[in-house]
Amino acid sequence: MSATTDHAPGRSGDVTSAGTPVVQIRGLVKDFPVGGLFSRATFRALGGVDLDVRRGEILALVGESGSGKSTIARCVARLEQPTSGTLRVDGVDVLRTEPRRASRAYRAKVQMVFQDPFGSLNPAHRVEHFLTRALRLHRRTASAVALRSRLAELMDTVDLDRALLDAYPHELSGGQRQRVAIARALAVEPEVILADEPTSMLDVSVRIGILNLMRRLRDERGISLLYITHDLAAARYVADRTTVMFAGEVVEAGESTALMADPAHPYTQLLLSAVPDPQRAGTFDPAERAALRAQVLGATTCPYAADGRCRDDSPVHHAVAPGWTVRCHLYRPQTEVARRALDVAGTSNA
Ligand code: ADP
Ligand code: MG
Repeated sequence: MSATTDHAPGRSGDVTSAGTPVVQIRGLVKDFPVGGLFSRATFRALGGVDLDVRRGEILALVGESGSGKSTIARCVARLEQPTSGTLRVDGVDVLRTEPRRASRAYRAKVQMVFQDPFGSLNPAHRVEHFLTRALRLHRRTASAVALRSRLAELMDTVDLDRALLDAYPHELSGGQRQRVAIARALAVEPEVILADEPTSMLDVSVRIGILNLMRRLRDERGISLLYITHDLAAARYVADRTTVMFAGEVVEAGESTALMADPAHPYTQLLLSAVPDPQRAGTFDPAERAALRAQVLGATTCPYAADGRCRDDSPVHHAVAPGWTVRCHLYRPQTEVARRALDVAGTSNA
């Protein structure tokens, strides 16, 4: 895992080779001050996260609300300065500069798309304004003709009718607004898009269109995407790999299909048990699952921590398969122990 950390920063020629992750996070810790002005108390939102976003992949970051997903994205977007740890983008150690001093080139390279497109689009402006501004910021010298064709191209890329360049945000549907937000991110030709729950405010029928757009950006433009979601079905559908967060820690990470077919960590199993899956055998009672979800996922600690050793003995990462790790004392190679624990908790599908 650490073999790729040894590149000299700043020499873009040799650090952007195919094997280097575009975003590489090691030991990322973020403490937030809590308890008022004169308190020194802190809350540890990230407890030492390791995470790579590879070139041209979609990496899903899943976990319940409060697990630290947005904090990771905000650190990578340089909206938040981590307490410790390293962050390399294109092999360059970026935390050496203060967030507010992050270069324009960096901000173009790493773009963020937020959950609420309405909140990020000023209602007083038309679509054309948002896109033009982003294009101008990126390439100041674009001629009027070049600008028109870039605007049209951006609208085509996100499957929006060009006529909508004249629309105001309130005239657009939620899905269309999110497409505008994505087009604006694309205007600066980013390498990485950090999409923080971009689909969670959208109707299910609209959601799939945004997921397919993300796939297309990956496949046709080689853009790397960090896709934050609590929707595991969406993660499975769209993401090459999935990283599961729990209370500021990565508990499981691997190739999405394999990980979700047979999750090794009890927490991943619980998250998945709340996702209806027609392919999974057995019947399931939605009310029962909803209650379980509320009971377990509302908690701030793992349901098995009380019986396990996690409290005083932080579990290490075990390899389940190549590229697949789990961090749990209960993990055994065939995962029977974790399964048994799940059965005891009454979550079995049988
Ligand atoms: P997620 O995106 O997974 O829902 P977040 O990254 O937003 O989680 O938050 C992780 C934890 O950090 C939460 O407990 C949240 O309350 C806390 N947190 C996030 N931002 C701040 C902040 N600016 N000040 C204090 N606590 C914060
Ligand atoms: Mg969040």
